[in-house]
Amino acid sequence: MPAPLKILVTDEIDAEGVALLRAVPEFDVDEQPTLTPPVLLERIGQYDAIVGRSATKVTEALLRRAVRLKVVGRAGVGVDNIAMDAATELGIAVINAPAGNTVAVAELFFGSVISLLRHLTRADQSMHEGRWERSDLLGTELRGKTLGIVGLGRIGGEVAQRAHAFGMDVHAYDPYVSDERFAALRVRRAATLDALLGVAGIVTVHTPLTDETTGMIGAAAMAKLPRGAIVVNMARGGIVDDDALRAALDRGHLAGAVLDVYVKEPLTGEHPFRPYHNVVLLPHIGASSAEAQRNVAVDACAAVRDALLNGDLSRTLNGVLAGEDAATLGPALVLARRAAAVARALLADRGATAIDELTIKTGDDLTASAGALLAAAAAGLLEGIVEQERLNLINARALATARGIVLAHGEGGFAPHSRAIEVRLSAGAHAMRVGGVAALDFTPRLTRIGDFHVDVAPRGTLLVLTNHDVPGVIGRVGTALAEAGVNIAEYHQARLAAGGDALAVVTIDGAPPAHVRDTLMALRDVRSATIVRFGGDA
Ligand code: NAD
Repeated sequence: MPAPLKILVTDEIDAEGVALLRAVPEFDVDEQPTLTPPVLLERIGQYDAIVGRSATKVTEALLRRAVRLKVVGRAGVGVDNIAMDAATELGIAVINAPAGNTVAVAELFFGSVISLLRHLTRADQSMHEGRWERSDLLGTELRGKTLGIVGLGRIGGEVAQRAHAFGMDVHAYDPYVSDERFAALRVRRAATLDALLGVAGIVTVHTPLTDETTGMIGAAAMAKLPRGAIVVNMARGGIVDDDALRAALDRGHLAGAVLDVYVKEPLTGEHPFRPYHNVVLLPHIGASSAEAQRNVAVDACAAVRDALLNGDLSRTLNGVLAGEDAATLGPALVLARRAAAVARALLADRGATAIDELTIKTGDDLTASAGALLAAAAAGLLEGIVEQERLNLINARALATARGIVLAHGEGGFAPHSRAIEVRLSAGAHAMRVGGVAALDFTPRLTRIGDFHVDVAPRGTLLVLTNHDVPGVIGRVGTALAEAGVNIAEYHQARLAAGGDALAVVTIDGAPPAHVRDTLMALRDVRSATIVRFGGDA
C-alpha cells in the first residue's frame, strides 16, 4: 500500500470541512491550529497539502522548503497570505473558496444598518449600565427608503433581494452588469454613479477594490447624496474615502455610516472614526458567521481532496487548464484575453459597458482549444471588474455567464490564418471585434480592430486613437506623447480610404500619466482615444 498523503490543517478549519479529508483512507490528516512560523518551516517538508485560513503565512521561503507540497487550500477568499508567484513557479496549486460568505455579508448589512437606524448599541449599553433612556432612542425605518447599491455582483444581489422584503426602493449602479440581471433582481438601474447618489438614502458599496473604485465614494460623491444619508462599506477599505466621510459627518450632511473594512487592518490605537457614535465600526466580520466558515471550509477541503485524489485542478487559482498543452497554447490564451480587454475598453469609451455577448472565432488549428480561448477572452472581459483573486481561466466562463453574458464559439467564415483568433463583444446596440494571430514562431499580434487592419503586439499599454485621415495627426500625437514623457514602442496607422476615418494603434512602455487621454482627445482631428493597460497573463 502506498504511503498516505499527509495533509496539514491549520488555523482552526471548521470540523465539517476537515471531516471530508478524514473520510479518505489515503489521507493522513494532521490538525495543528497554531504552529509558529519556525516550526512550520521545519515540518512543511513532510506534507502533500496544507489547508488554512489567513493566519498562516505561506511564504516563498516556506514553499521552497515544501518539497512534497502539491496543494495549498485557503478556506476563504483572500490569498494575500500566500506567495502566489512562487507557488505557480513551483507547480503548487493554490485553491480558495470565494462564494461561501455572500449571505453572511448580506445579512450583516441589514443587521448593522438597522442597528444604526434604531440606536441598538446605545440602547443596549445604556440598559447594561442601569439606565432606561427610551425617549432618546427614537429611530427610523428601512421601509420606503431608497437603497443605492454600487456593484450588483454576488453580495450586491443578495442585499437587493433582502431589501425588497423590507419594503425598500432598490436602485443600483453597476455598468458591467446586463439589464437582464437588473430585471431578474427587480432593481432600478442608475445610468451613472451620480444618478444613484442623487436618490440614495442609504448607499452601500459591493465592488472589488480596483483603480476605478478606489476613492469612488469621495467628497464629490458624498455631496451628491441627499442630506441625512447613510454610507456603508462592507467591501474593501479605500472604496469610501475616510477623510471625505469624516468631513461629511462633521458638517451633518450624512446621518451616519457603517464600516466593516479599512485601508489598514487591523485598526489599532486612536483611529479617527472611534469617537463617532453615529458610525457603526465592525472589525471585518462580514464573513464571520458559523455558516460561512463552514461553507468555505467545506468548499476548500473538497477542492483540496479532489486535487490530491483525482488530479482535479479545476478550482486552482494559478493553474493552467488540465489537458491543454500550456506551452503552445499560452500565447493564444494571452491574445484572446487581451483582444477581449481591448474590445471592452473601446466599447466602454463609446459609453457601452454592459456587455451582453462574447463570441470567439478561431482558425482551424485552434478550434480544439476554443473552450480555453473563450475562457481567456471572458477573463479579459472581466479583468478589473471582478476581484482578480476570484478570476481565473477555469471560472471566467461561469462568472461571465452568471452576469448574463452569452458566450459563443462562432462557426465558419473565418480563416485568415490557422492560428487566428477573433473576439467579438456586443453591448446593446454596440459591437466591437478585435482579432489577431498567435503563430507558433512569433509573439502574438493584433491584426484587426473593428474594420481596420493593424499589426501590433498587445503588451504593456495600448493606445487606440481614431482620427480624420488628414496630414499632421501622427506628428501631433507623437509630440503630445513625447511631451508627456511617454516612450512609443510601436505605432501602426491604418485607414479604410484616403481622407476618411483612420485608426492608430500605439504601444507604449509602462503606464502613461493619468492626463494622457485628455491630452490626446484635445488634439485637432483626434476623435477618440482609448487606453488599455494589460493585466496578468492568461
Ligand atoms: P462580485 O465580483 O460578485 O461583484 C462585484 C461587482 O462589482 C460586480 O458585479 C462588478 O460588475 C461590480 N463593479 C466592478 N467595478 C465597478 C465599478 N467601477 N462601478 C460599479 N460596479 C462595479 O464580488 P462579491 O462577492 O459581491 O464581493 C463584493 C465585495 O465584497 C468585494 O470587494 C469583496 O472583497 C468584499 N467582501 C467583503 C467581505 C467582508 O468580510 N466584509 C466578505 C466577502 C466579500
